[in-house]
Order: sequence, then C-alpha cells, then structure tokens
Amino acid sequence: MARTIEPDCRQCRREGRKLFLKGERCTSKKCAMERRPVIPGQHGASRKRVTEYGLQLREKQKVKRMYGILEKQFRKYYEDAAAAKGATGPKMLSLIETRLDNVIYRMGIGASRAECRQIVNHGHICVNGKGVNIASYRVKIGDVITIKESKRELDMFKQLKGMKIVMPKWLEFDTENLTGKILALPEREDIDSDIKEQLIVELYSR
Ligand code: SF4
Repeated sequence: MARTIEPDCRQCRREGRKLFLKGERCTSKKCAMERRPVIPGQHGASRKRVTEYGLQLREKQKVKRMYGILEKQFRKYYEDAAAAKGATGPKMLSLIETRLDNVIYRMGIGASRAECRQIVNHGHICVNGKGVNIASYRVKIGDVITIKESKRELDMFKQLKGMKIVMPKWLEFDTENLTGKILALPEREDIDSDIKEQLIVELYSR
C-alpha cells in the first residue's frame, strides 16, 4: 500500500502541531513537538511570511497527514463531499472520519491511526460479521465492528478487556465483548476543532 515516507515527527514539526502519529510517544516527554517545535530544515525557525495559498496548502497537508491519506484519495473525499448535499467542508471531514481505520482508532483498538490501519490491513477486523481489510472502508450507521474470533487472543486485543475508553458519542465499543457499533454519523463538533476545513475547500475550488 502506498504511504508517505516522511518521518512521523518531522511531519508534526512541519505542520507546527502534534498530529499524534506515534501512539504513546506522542503524550510523553519524548515527543519531538515538546523538545524541538520548529519547522524542519536549515531556515525552519526563521520562516515567517505565509501567503493565503500557503495557509490553504498547509491546512490540507495537516489533515492528510493526521489521517495518513495520500493526495489522490484525499481529493476524492473533497469531490464526494462537494457532490453531496450540505456544506462541503464538514461533509468532507465526516466522510474521512468514517474510514474504518479511523473508526477503530477512535474506539481505542490501536494507539495511532497508523497502527489501526495495519490492524485492518492484516485482516483482524470484521464489519457485520465479514472480514474487511480495506482501511478506507466507509462505515454506516448500525454497522457492527468486531475483532475477528481467531485473533482475539493476540496480546494487543487481550489488553483491551475491561479497559475504560473515552470515545466520541457517535461510537460505542464494549471492551468485554470486543464489539463496537456505529450509532450515528460524525457531526462537525465530533471532529478535531483545530481543523479549518474551509481553507481546504477554498484550495480545491481554486
Ligand atoms: Fe508528532 Fe507523536 Fe512525533 Fe510528537 S511523538 S512529534 S505528536 S508523531
């Protein structure tokens, strides 16, 4: 599967904020954004002037990196949102948020989206009882997400048993039965408030 080759922490430094790409390390003192929160490169610390286009581009790059999506697929989310009813920006974020890898990340099954993408790619997840190994699979209201029966004894899943996990209100996940459900589609308020999706819409509609 195609993916970006830029080191995770460098991506955060480039975007000037934590993108939480490395699980536990991101909330520890080892986080590069705690130790060296400047743009990478020789003149990183001294770069100041940003054009309107630059702001739009950075916002798009930030969200792509947060969710680990490549350009072609990211643009497709924009096009699908633009063709749908309602405001394009929030719709685009809602579509991205319903990716299967993100959903299991929100449910707390993996520590980062990258780890969750791997969990899906390795065929550990079922949707409505059927194995799904496509990270971008779009979940729907009422879908039931489970860990494949034959994989439940893996340490990474056993440790979830009985854990208290805080998750958005549109999802539920029972850590005893390792079963989750999509209760609703994500609203704008359920998604990172730091994202300025209007800038991304402006960029793509240029
Ligand atoms: Fe980003 Fe996590 Fe690296 Fe911190 S540790 S810079 S949040 S990827």
